[in-house]
Amino acid sequence: MQRLVRVCFSEASGYSFAKKAADVAREHGIERVARLASNENPRPPSQSVIEAGCAALLEANRYPDERASVFVEALRRYHGDYRFVTGAGMDGVIETLIRTVVEPGETVVISTPTFSFYGIAAIAHGARVVNAPRRKEDFSVDPADFIRVCGGAKLAFLCTPNNPTGNTVPLETVEEILEGLEGLLFLDNAYIEFSDMDYLPLMHRYENLVLGRTMSKIFALAGLRVGYAFVPGWLEPFYNRAATPFALNSVSAAAAAAALAEEESVRETREHVLRWRRRFIEEIPGAYPSDANFVMIDVAPYTGDEAVERLAARGVLVRSCTTFPGLGDHYIRVSIGDDRENALFMEAIRDL
Ligand SMILES: *Cc1c(COP(=O)(O)O)cnc(C)c1O
Repeated sequence: MQRLVRVCFSEASGYSFAKKAADVAREHGIERVARLASNENPRPPSQSVIEAGCAALLEANRYPDERASVFVEALRRYHGDYRFVTGAGMDGVIETLIRTVVEPGETVVISTPTFSFYGIAAIAHGARVVNAPRRKEDFSVDPADFIRVCGGAKLAFLCTPNNPTGNTVPLETVEEILEGLEGLLFLDNAYIEFSDMDYLPLMHRYENLVLGRTMSKIFALAGLRVGYAFVPGWLEPFYNRAATPFALNSVSAAAAAAALAEEESVRETREHVLRWRRRFIEEIPGAYPSDANFVMIDVAPYTGDEAVERLAARGVLVRSCTTFPGLGDHYIRVSIGDDRENALFMEAIRDL
């Protein structure tokens, strides 16, 4: 029956998931594994977030509010008066945005090496993916080259801070791109809260900018799948037409609204990440600078896969970067975890 499956899914392997902590623990007889492969927040959600989620669960017999109003209102309190769209994770937002603007067969441009889901979602939609490679030396973006590759494409993806390289794209570069682009620019800001960068002022000046955000990273809700984006006003009604009805469930929306109010724990997470990030970059040979909650490390002469295996044997889970097209095979990406996990990682990588 496999002949029934679309070519794009029968040939390509899809999203690479992190190894399951439980499997690694079993293989190596280790009790507590350090989970540093998925850039999650090591801290569980706080009490108020749990209570908000539980309260919403009491009414789970009802369909959610179709515009996730509790969450959108909390976003307005947090960020100010912008137009927001929401989805099941930023991944859900990305999928819906592609569906809103791209006809099957049209081109989607991706600045590489980067997060794999833009390409996976575009191809699943029947779009043609064209890569705009970053500069080899420092993974920076050449705006003129990016604009040239985009040509008349309706949609382009640019990640900043970039996953997995960790660097941000300067504001002027993004502006230059927005000036030159015919289509929309999706700026993926999944890690923006760990940086000092602020692209929001650009929302007031450009009609072709979408800023993607997630509740999965600094806000510690990866398991609830909540993403959102700042969109220009003209796009909002069309996005909502293209979206899966009720994509953001009521429990996730309520918990996410409460998480936005947790200013203290967000600040603590940020300080914790910045402190450890500095140590990782200063003390680990081959570590790249980073503005996110992870660090990319050149592990040559090992390959990324070899390093991952060796670290897993010590109970430390990190991500091999060999699945990021356009990057060499000798990099790993390690998330900033809690104190114990980070110390375990430092010890294991030194021995390597
Ligand atoms: C984690 C991540 C996302 C997806 O986040 P979800 O909201 O969990 O879907 C998007 N973009 C990048 C670059 C990420 O690393």
